[in-house]
Amino acid sequence: MKALITGLTGQDGAYLAKNLLEKGYKVFGGVRRISTPNFWRLEELKILNHPNLKIIDLDITDLSSCIRALNDCKPTELYNLAAQSFVAASFKQPLQTIEASGTSAINLLESIRITGVNCKFYQASTSEMFGSVVEVPQNEDTPFYPRSPYGFAKLMAHWGTINYRESYDFFASSGILFNHESPLRGIEFITRKITDGVAKIIKGKNDCLEIGNLDAKRDWGDAEDYVEGMRLILSAEKSDTFVLATGETHSIRDFLVKAFSCVDIKLVFEGTDLNEIGIDKKTNKTLVKINPKFYRPAEVDLLIGDPSKAKNVLGWKAITNIDKLVQKMINADLKRQS
Ligand code: NDP
Ligand code: GDP
Repeated sequence: MKALITGLTGQDGAYLAKNLLEKGYKVFGGVRRISTPNFWRLEELKILNHPNLKIIDLDITDLSSCIRALNDCKPTELYNLAAQSFVAASFKQPLQTIEASGTSAINLLESIRITGVNCKFYQASTSEMFGSVVEVPQNEDTPFYPRSPYGFAKLMAHWGTINYRESYDFFASSGILFNHESPLRGIEFITRKITDGVAKIIKGKNDCLEIGNLDAKRDWGDAEDYVEGMRLILSAEKSDTFVLATGETHSIRDFLVKAFSCVDIKLVFEGTDLNEIGIDKKTNKTLVKINPKFYRPAEVDLLIGDPSKAKNVLGWKAITNIDKLVQKMINADLKRQS
């Protein structure tokens, strides 16, 4: 088996590469040219120098780069994980996001068509496509209502995947993944921002965390479970769309309480709206403040997925629960700060 992964240097790219290498795959990892190499995740997972991992130049916004990668690697599976994946940034760079997270998927699908390379295609779709949700929980048949440039860019790539499946008989599958986190999550995402912030407070490197909307709710799973789901999606008998989720939802407030409790601090909230603060019940010290700079122009308030189809068809389910996930992330950040 030969897999080409776009977005190798990201959270999921690194975990998926590790997963596939352990299963005996030859892995080609697509990396775009940036001024400073960004291999810290591959180093943490100790796979950067794996003999079966070959890093190749690939910028998915450039059709010629995609065609060249397909021709050079001739993969049997192509996982399209590269994207501008941060919702908040997508409001500030909508067109770049549309290119990196939307039309780039069409570059890859077209490259498969042009080169004739016989490979299965996986598209990293997202629960952000459900946005202002029209039903709870969300499954494969729930109508979409994206609330950000990231959400509508990904929706384009999602429909592109389905369209190529139907038009050209491609094995092109889409995983609608709900939020998944890990010690390798980008530091700007709320879970990692919190675990990194808690670790810095404990080590005396910071006093307080500044957060936006505390009421948003997410269905958070563990990235390691989800990359296994991606592999199973391409191992299925036929190409299709699958939701991967835990089926549980928690607020940002809940996540904060859980993260502080991992370091034996009981966090309680006082005040309302912009004046709400999170304090250490024992010492009365303010540990969390609201900063409106982290509010978004449009918000996705409640995401909760129904992973029944993935369970029934693929035998997949999320293994790590939220408490274990928070503890794992806190442990890693405490270690990094010591
Ligand atoms: P990350 O932001 O951690 O990684 C994104 C990757 O895309 C990085 O390797 C980045 O490279 C690469 N990339 C960005 N632009 C380009 C480009 N033009 N050409 C080539 N590579 C590029 O995301 P995750 O690993 O968390 O997510 C993986 C995929 O899954 C993404 O598509 C994301 O949108 C989607 N997704 C993620 C969810 C989650 O909760 N994590 C939920 C649902 C979907 P560089 O290192 O150079 O920046
Ligand atoms: P997303 O679900 O892909 O947008 O993942 P994020 O981790 O970036 O955001 C999850 C939720 O946390 C969103 O509803 C944000 O509005 C909310 N949130 C509240 N405060 C913050 C913050 O300081 N940073 C981020 N990234 N999100 C925040």
